[in-house]
Amino acid sequence: MLKLQCEKCNYEFQKENPPKRCPYCAAEDFIIPYKQAQSFLDESEN
Ligand SMILES: [Zn+2]
Repeated sequence: MLKLQCEKCNYEFQKENPPKRCPYCAAEDFIIPYKQAQSFLDESEN
């Protein structure tokens, strides 16, 4: 299962394969791997 995100509407979802269209706003080619902002926070704490 991949964690994905729509770069246009920021909708987060999980799927086995990245779809071409966002299931929420139906935008094409805006699906990207989910950005984990938490990892940046963890790094700055050290
Ligand atoms: Zn979207």
